[in-house]
Amino acid sequence: MSARRYSPMEMIETLVGFPTVSADSNLNLIGFVRDYLADLGVESRLTYDESKRKANLFATVGPDHPGGVVLSGHTDVVPVAGQPWESDPFTLTRRGDKIYGRGTSDMKSFIAVALALVPEFQKAGLRRPIHLALSYDEEVGCFGVPHMLRDIAANLPLPAMAIIGEPTSMQLANRHKGDLVFRTRFTGRDGHSSAPQRGLNAIFSAAEFLTFLSRLAAELRDEGPQDESFDPPYTTVNVGQIDGGTAFNIVARRCEIIWEFRPIPSVAPETVIARVQGFVDSELLPRMRQAAEEADVETTTLVALPPLMPEPDSPAEALIHALTGVNEAIGVAFGTEAGHFQQTGIPAVVFGPGSIQQAHKPNEFIEIAQVEACVGFMRKLAAWAAASTP
Ligand SMILES: [Zn+2]
Repeated sequence: MSARRYSPMEMIETLVGFPTVSADSNLNLIGFVRDYLADLGVESRLTYDESKRKANLFATVGPDHPGGVVLSGHTDVVPVAGQPWESDPFTLTRRGDKIYGRGTSDMKSFIAVALALVPEFQKAGLRRPIHLALSYDEEVGCFGVPHMLRDIAANLPLPAMAIIGEPTSMQLANRHKGDLVFRTRFTGRDGHSSAPQRGLNAIFSAAEFLTFLSRLAAELRDEGPQDESFDPPYTTVNVGQIDGGTAFNIVARRCEIIWEFRPIPSVAPETVIARVQGFVDSELLPRMRQAAEEADVETTTLVALPPLMPEPDSPAEALIHALTGVNEAIGVAFGTEAGHFQQTGIPAVVFGPGSIQQAHKPNEFIEIAQVEACVGFMRKLAAWAAASTP
């Protein structure tokens, strides 16, 4: 029995049809891709999350050698609830020269084009492998891809480079900021609000911490390194949520904040973390413990998205230059999985069809011309991988 073939458009329609919102399972989509590839004689490796409701998929077309090119994309999409869509977000709908649906630009079209072209890759006689890397939980903090990368590093020939097909309108991006998100919990001692001296108010302690953060933010803005390819060109700090206390007449025993910083590539995240931890360990916590020995400050990392650093002589950049003639590399404002690939020793760039302007919005779309440009790019990639040896 010969395998069912899909045009790029049919494959986009199929992938958009799986409602893979990050909170839900992506196993139907992954199962479909695994079966489709198996029919073509391509084996898939799956790595799961703890609940086994979500999986990454990694597959190799061509020889089992090091030196391949990874085409990487996330399978999850952001929610559609509460957004005013004019058509069903999970039914691909064409209007004029655009196709609409959740994930069309971010970023199922890139994955779909790669999948639809697998039979062409096979016919091309690849001397370098082309790998397909599909991840879960990108939109909620890039939690899936590290599992896949650990599996690759431990068990497979290391690819030479990765193309992360996030929507850049087919422009080459070689850098983005990181994103580190934390929850910090302050524990004090409760008591009657008429005698605050007998307790320790965790909200006041959190306020001291927030004052430190806002000074640090100003310092990073005014004195920290600058990178003009980003807007703003410096490392930013934000406090996103605060929650604490019980009632107006109780000294607050508990307060919790969620905060983040987004380092430009030249700022090592560890240096910022060390500054914050240093303030807690040497100033804030000793002061709190003078008032209540059980006082505590506990920080948990919620998201650790490494920045993508521009790499001198990056083979991934050189490949995009060679295949597209695009000379200039830009920075992008959004985070991607590219930094994780880079940290695994796989040089990575961000390069894909569609615009980030359309991502995460109602009536998300991609221009058909962008899909066609992506098809053209991947055909050139296959010709290159057939002609070049690692
Ligand atoms: Zn994305």
